[in-house]
Amino acid sequence: MEKGEKKYKYIYGPVPSRRLGMSLGIDIILYKVCTYDCIYCQLGRTAKKTGIRKEYVPTENIIKEIEQKLSERIDYDYITLAGSGEPTLNSGLKQIIEYLKSRTQIPVAVLTNGSLLFLDAVIESLLQADLIIPSLDAGSKELFLKVNRPIACIDYLQMINGLMNFSKIYNGQLWLEIMVLKNFTDTDEEIKKIANVVAQFKVDKVQLNTVLRPPSEKYAKPVGKKRIKELTKYFECEVEIVGKMSKKNEENRNYHIRNLEDRILSLIKRRPVTIKDISIGLSITPNEATKIIPILLEKEEIGKEFLNGKVYYKKHETEKQKLLR
Ligand code: SF4
Repeated sequence: MEKGEKKYKYIYGPVPSRRLGMSLGIDIILYKVCTYDCIYCQLGRTAKKTGIRKEYVPTENIIKEIEQKLSERIDYDYITLAGSGEPTLNSGLKQIIEYLKSRTQIPVAVLTNGSLLFLDAVIESLLQADLIIPSLDAGSKELFLKVNRPIACIDYLQMINGLMNFSKIYNGQLWLEIMVLKNFTDTDEEIKKIANVVAQFKVDKVQLNTVLRPPSEKYAKPVGKKRIKELTKYFECEVEIVGKMSKKNEENRNYHIRNLEDRILSLIKRRPVTIKDISIGLSITPNEATKIIPILLEKEEIGKEFLNGKVYYKKHETEKQKLLR
């Protein structure tokens, strides 16, 4: 960490985002605390699958960090509440959004899996945000169980009804994200089922996405752009394919990634570390660390090993170095 650089535990970025321009991220949930365990999750398998809402991280501390960050007077396209799990599980959500709305004109976005939108408290929390991006990855209960692997208390129809009701009372922008997966949702039959469900919602647009980073399960495979384009015809509303970033954002993102790569590498050179160690050691969120690790593994700059049920990342060793160990 540079001298004088402020430490943030819950805030990351601004990061260039494919959908939200330059976005300041706020991670309001602990690493992989989620109502789902999606097969495509880029953060790995869910560590704590739960439907219990509580203050997983102290609201007061998050607000202090926001205050500090906003005092830097940097302009962002969005402030995004998301992070390393499902943000609506945090019972401080309403207070955080209210604080942001009272403190800045920057639009507030929330990325959610949409599973808790049947709860009055969650609806009430989200009404003040400017943009909500919920997910919907299945048009049937069977596929929902296979793809999202929800906690038992989340029922498919209850989730759909929650989304539908929310879409009708919410006045901000509502973009629905659908993750298209090979052999799961890339067939005409399955996407038609999803489109029929979406037709009951009042959304501003649908965003079709596919797997771009290493998924939790290897069998969660991406779908080619040509096929995704063909699937857009089934939707009655505006459909956008989540694609590449603008050149400027791509450059900013590359700079941001290189900087993180260097910082993570210098930490790993000293000792083997877990994602949690990286997050604490570099004051970045686990979400950020999880995005950079696959890049370093791919470049063979680091290796990994399993020890006592945990994954440790360490300096890369050649086969010869391993034999000499
Ligand atoms: S993709 Fe999102 S909703 Fe699914 S398990 Fe990961 S964090 Fe949870």
